[in-house]
Amino acid sequence: MIQTIGILGGGQLGRMMALAARSMGFGIVVLDPTPNCPCGQIADKQIIAEFDDVEAAKELLNSCDVITYEFENVNLNVANALSTKLPQTSRLLEITQNRIVEKEEIRNAGLKTVEYVAITSLDSFTQFVIDYKNNPRKLIIKTAQGGYDGKGQYVINSIEDLSHFEKTNYHTKVQYVAENFTKFEKELSVIVCRNKNGEVSVFPVAENIHKNQILFQSIVPARVSADVEKMAITVATQLATHLNLVGTLAIELFLCEDGLLVNELAPRPHNSGHYTMNACITSQFEQHIRAVCNLSLGDTKLISNCVMLNILGEDKHLMNRENIGKHKLHLYGKAEAKVARKMGHINVIEDNIEKCLREVNKLVNNN
Ligand code: ADP
Ligand code: MG
Repeated sequence: MIQTIGILGGGQLGRMMALAARSMGFGIVVLDPTPNCPCGQIADKQIIAEFDDVEAAKELLNSCDVITYEFENVNLNVANALSTKLPQTSRLLEITQNRIVEKEEIRNAGLKTVEYVAITSLDSFTQFVIDYKNNPRKLIIKTAQGGYDGKGQYVINSIEDLSHFEKTNYHTKVQYVAENFTKFEKELSVIVCRNKNGEVSVFPVAENIHKNQILFQSIVPARVSADVEKMAITVATQLATHLNLVGTLAIELFLCEDGLLVNELAPRPHNSGHYTMNACITSQFEQHIRAVCNLSLGDTKLISNCVMLNILGEDKHLMNRENIGKHKLHLYGKAEAKVARKMGHINVIEDNIEKCLREVNKLVNNN
C-alpha cells in the first residue's frame, strides 16, 4: 500500500499536491534545490539537491512508495532512474518538453494546432527566412524547450522584426517553433486525470485571461456554448486515451472561428485549475494524487461559480490577508516576491460570474 509520496519539484504545484495528499493521510518527501521551498515547508522531509542529481533522485526513490513531479522539465536520466515508482512514465515528459514533438503528437491524436514551422537547424532557419519574405505575417517564435509564462517568445510583425530576431536572439543550437499568430475568440483550458485502471475524469472548462502572457484570471464555468464545452471535453478525453495518460494532463486551447486549436499541454496540475480547490467537489491536486496512486477518482462536479485571480510578486496588497475579505486566499510561502513571480492566488466564489468579476475588480483595484 502506498504510504509515502515523493515529489520532484517543491514549488507551488508540489505544495498543493502535498497539501491534498496530507489530508488523505499520506507522508511526503520532496526533492528541490531551494531549502524550505513551498513544498518543503509542509513535507515530512526535503532532499535538497539539484534536479539532475541522479544520486539524490535515488534517495528519493528509496524514501517513498510512488513518485510524481510538479513540472515537465524533469531530467530524463532522473526520470529513468525513478521509473520503477513513476506511474506517469517518462513518455509524456519527452513529449511535453519540446513544443515541436508536442505539436506533432497533438496532430497524431487527430487534433488541430496553430499553423507552425519547426526550426531545428541553421538550414531550416535560413529556409524559413526565405519563405517568410514571400509570405510575411504576424508570428510568435517560441523556443521549443524550456519556455514558460511567455519566456523565450518573440512576436514578429515584419521582416525587420525577423532580422532583429536573427541578429539578437537566434542561436543555431536552439530549436524553435514559428507559430502563426492566432486571432482567437477566447483562451480555454481543460484538465483531465486518468489512473492506471483507465478511469478518466475531466474538470469543467476554464476561460483564461492572460496579461503579458501570464495567466491573470480563470473564469469558471467558461462563457462558451454547451457545444464548445463538449468539444473541449472530447479533446481532453481523446488526448488522455491517445497518450495512455496516468496522472494529470492540462490542455490549453484557443477557441477560433473554425473550432478549437490545442495551444499546449502540461503533464501536471495547472494554474488554470486552481479554481477547483474551492469550486469543485474534488480539487485537481487531490485528483492527481488519486490518479498516481491508482485510487478511484473523485467527483469533478462544479459546485459554484468561480473566478481565480493570480497574485504576482508586484501585487503586494493581495498578499496582505487583511485585504482579501471573505475570498479564498492561497499563498505559496515563497521567500522573495519578485515581479511576475506567482506568489499565490485568490478564488472568488459568488452566485454568478458577473458578481465574481466585480469582486475580483475590487481586489485588483484595492477598493
Ligand atoms: P507558455 O504558457 O509556455 O509561456 P504559451 O504558448 O501558452 O506559452 O503562450 C503564452 C500565451 O501567449 C498564450 O496563453 C497566449 O495568450 C499567447 N499566445 C501563445 N501562442 C500564440 C499564438 N500562436 N497566437 C496568439 N497568441 C498566442
Ligand atoms: Mg501556456
